[in-house]
Amino acid sequence: MAGRIEGPDAPRIIRVHPADNVAIVVDDLGLPAGTGVAAGITLAERVPQGHKVALTPLAKGDAVRRYDTVIGTAAEAIPAGGYVSEARLVMPEAPALDDLPLATRPSPLGPPIEDTTFEGYRNRDGSVGTRNLLAITTTVQCVSGVVEHAVDRIRRELLPRFPNVDGVVGLDHIYGCGVAIDAPDAPIPIRTLHNISRNPNFGGETMVVSLGCEKLQSERLFGPLLPMGGDGGIGLVTLQDPANVGFEAMIASILRTAERHLERLDRRRRTSCPASALVVGMQCGGSDAFSGITANPALGHASDLLVRAGATVMFSENTEVRDGIAQLTARAATPDIARRIIAELDWYDRYLARGSVDRSANTTPGNKTGGLSNIVEKAMGSIVKSGSAPIAGVVAPGERARGPGLLYAATPASDFVCGTLQMAAGMNLHVFTTGRGTPYGLAAVPVIKVATRSDPARRWHDLIDVDAGIIATGAATIEEVGRQMLALMLEVASGKPTCAEKLRLWNQLALFNPAPIT
Ligand code: CA
Repeated sequence: MAGRIEGPDAPRIIRVHPADNVAIVVDDLGLPAGTGVAAGITLAERVPQGHKVALTPLAKGDAVRRYDTVIGTAAEAIPAGGYVSEARLVMPEAPALDDLPLATRPSPLGPPIEDTTFEGYRNRDGSVGTRNLLAITTTVQCVSGVVEHAVDRIRRELLPRFPNVDGVVGLDHIYGCGVAIDAPDAPIPIRTLHNISRNPNFGGETMVVSLGCEKLQSERLFGPLLPMGGDGGIGLVTLQDPANVGFEAMIASILRTAERHLERLDRRRRTSCPASALVVGMQCGGSDAFSGITANPALGHASDLLVRAGATVMFSENTEVRDGIAQLTARAATPDIARRIIAELDWYDRYLARGSVDRSANTTPGNKTGGLSNIVEKAMGSIVKSGSAPIAGVVAPGERARGPGLLYAATPASDFVCGTLQMAAGMNLHVFTTGRGTPYGLAAVPVIKVATRSDPARRWHDLIDVDAGIIATGAATIEEVGRQMLALMLEVASGKPTCAEKLRLWNQLALFNPAPIT
């Protein structure tokens, strides 16, 4: 529901669901006390943009509903038109995991969408790249400085000779040694690194730089190495190899190996591929109260269209679905998939408890300034990016996704850790929604950034790809922006650079390592 609409400049509030007893203020500067916002409701005090107004009088202890979900209880009496601030809202307990609906509400999909294509790079393993990149995997952080130097030299000295290669990426990380490599949770970072190296955007041409004495030996990362020279071979450079006499010899060895991979990558060309070859990772960062009514539902609509076109689409962020777990387990395609979702979130509850926190450790000062009072409200806005498709599978952290369909990739909500794990899952396109704004980008996978409000989209005109704020002002519908996002996804998958790519902005990989450091 929109509040009193008397023209484009009228004060505007948005209630998400008819059963909700709060709405949020849309106006950029908030609204002052005395503003009439709906029939019979006048603001009792100033309410900032994105923050909540009570639509009915609330007694202490009354349930506060947004998204038709109890996001907390009133800490004190609040009149109709009162400001439901963070301090006036008591957060509920997380829902129990032992009595959840299992695959009771798998939503029917619309009819299949055919003839949706993009121009991609077909790989021998059946996956499709949206970029044609040389990746250099590292087995241990010790080699990072050398690899960074080599990447710079490759970019300047070799890439100009290979115009069909989009770039070179050093897969830098802080794992590999000084870690408890046989700990029960160590397979998570190890399989993450293994699967990142197989990302479709690297064309099966991954090369590896190792030190030699580290715990994560290259054989442990990849199994017996294929010989160099053959198609799909993994080129290995070991810095401690006696043949490398001095730094320049190391660099020359890396450049020689890179050149052989670049020759093969350079012969590749984009060809028409069905949208079913897309593996889209979705996440949000710097969320605000608009995330759940503009950018995320529009992305959810785009996600439904992608699923109908046969694509694989992942949503993630454990702490941002934990309070909505009953929605997910009900939407699971089978009871077994529902049980896998529960198992992942149960493991994550215990992971957080080991650090003496719970899912409420997620929210940031920016979330709260943006109107999100607690993790329950944040989760309800985050989860809508999953659209309405049945959940067809679960991806454990570091595993490769097996689509098609909508998958729950169980990752932390940290932008960098989530992006890294979705890369390992095989994502070839990333869509990132943001309320407060972030310059986030990845070197290996194009990231389309979507703003929840028009104000940051205007200010960051060269950093934000899509303005979903036009939904809040009524200038466009969720479906219109969702279709616009899908069209942009196909263009970007076909090679159109994103804002972050144009500016060459990218964040480092962040491996999820729940195991001890030694
Ligand atoms: Ca995130």
